[in-house]
Amino acid sequence: MKQYSYFAGGNWHEPASGQWLDSENPALGEAWARIPDCGTEDVDRAVGEAHACFYRGPWGKAQAAERGRLLRRIGDVISANAERLGEIETRDNGKLPQHITPSLTSWLTDSFYYYAGMCDKFEGSLLPSEAPDMLNYLAWKPFGVCALITAWNSPLGVLIWKLAPALAAGNAVVVKPSEYASASTLELMDVLGDADLPDGLINVVTGYGRTAGQALVSHPGVSMVSFTGGIPGGRSIAELAARQVKPVVMELGGKSPQIVLEDADLDLAVNGIVSGIFPVSGQSCISGSRLLVARPLFETFCERLVEVASRARIGDPGDPATQIGPIAHRAHYEKILDDIGQVVEAGGELLLDGRGKGPDRGYYIGPTIFSGVSHDERLAQEEVFGPVAVVIPFDSEDEAVAMANGTVYGLAAGIWSRDVNKAIRMAESIQAGTVYINNYFNATTQSPVGGWKQSGYGRENGIEGMRCFMQTKSVWLATRPSQPDPFPAR
Ligand code: NAD
Repeated sequence: MKQYSYFAGGNWHEPASGQWLDSENPALGEAWARIPDCGTEDVDRAVGEAHACFYRGPWGKAQAAERGRLLRRIGDVISANAERLGEIETRDNGKLPQHITPSLTSWLTDSFYYYAGMCDKFEGSLLPSEAPDMLNYLAWKPFGVCALITAWNSPLGVLIWKLAPALAAGNAVVVKPSEYASASTLELMDVLGDADLPDGLINVVTGYGRTAGQALVSHPGVSMVSFTGGIPGGRSIAELAARQVKPVVMELGGKSPQIVLEDADLDLAVNGIVSGIFPVSGQSCISGSRLLVARPLFETFCERLVEVASRARIGDPGDPATQIGPIAHRAHYEKILDDIGQVVEAGGELLLDGRGKGPDRGYYIGPTIFSGVSHDERLAQEEVFGPVAVVIPFDSEDEAVAMANGTVYGLAAGIWSRDVNKAIRMAESIQAGTVYINNYFNATTQSPVGGWKQSGYGRENGIEGMRCFMQTKSVWLATRPSQPDPFPAR
């Protein structure tokens, strides 16, 4: 069994608790590695190292172009080690190799190159001023030390979307990956040994949210928190951060609607919708799991959907023929089975039952599709974060929009229609951070993503993604200094 240490100040450390947590390979349902169960002392060390790197070390003084060069080196090293990192992520959370390794040589590493290029082009401004004889400029500054707290579904992807802009902005960071999938993040620190990073620039503590995570959020040395995870964790982090009036970025869950209008290209819609949820077993924040379908199309749509979804080959991620891998960890697997059981008990009609599909060992659930569920029921209102979709008919476009907006979430939405004008009008009415028309699941480094409503706030990617890791400073310079005596003697 592989035993990891945590990473702080350029060195590996054993946890002060002397305790480790098992990390399972979900394809086999057995532990393969142990990760440190970090607590306050370890977090304190990691934050101290980040603080020293930023305030006393080289990083706080690094020139923009120097930061850019460092980001390019990180991109190169990740790209060169994509296979190794991908292999660890597959083993640790069951992600299919084709969903991780190619991304590490393309759009995920592009994130480092994109922000590397932005480092020396991120300009402040000279502000027009009503005040006479004053020069007033606005500069963008890093926070200092940022905490990056990530989820288990795409450990490296979720991390890179934070790490690249956070470093480009000039911060040092402490990362806390999920207790269910920390190995690829720790392995990343190992390969980054080749990137010649200043000690303390990137530190990684592992362990539970309620221990390591909370200690990190509430550490006075941390000035900003960027979080990806569920609403309960997000709420608790936002509350904790508020006690020190600490800014947070929240990338939370979703229950994204896919609206299929009567004039949709049905094959396009079905293929797009199936691709937008099942290949990753619904374990993506933007999975389109709420399918709202024009009533005249409903029966045909359901038949086609089941036909395509039931063709998927569910199996071991190591088998190149596999199209759907396991659920990432046991607790989540059991939660999804429980959710499915509750819908069946409440009278939901199972069009496709994914239970019992795939290999006997490991945590497999195939595509599962329900109808006969009303929009106010739990399945339509709450995120399952699994391969479970619900199909609900609508009678008018107004009803479709009302349903699409009728949850606490607002992360993403899909619209399928041949009438682009109609689709654009509808997109304008949808309350979501991202709307796809006749496609789904696209994301690029240039395009900011994030939530509306309880799906979060702040943005990742694009210029917005970098601004979230910075604060402005307005500097006033008197060009003709003169200061009248405030209390002239009579
Ligand atoms: P989670 O909220 O349980 O945990 C996420 C991370 O936060 C973990 O590292 C965990 O240890 C830590 N954490 C949890 N509670 C904490 C607390 N009180 N204080 C400090 N740290 C705490 O989420 P998860 O189960 O790992 O991930 C699944 C969720 O993430 C889903 O809801 C999914 O939609 C969401 N997600 C969102 C995005 C996005 O970009 N919007 C991307 C991926 C996943």
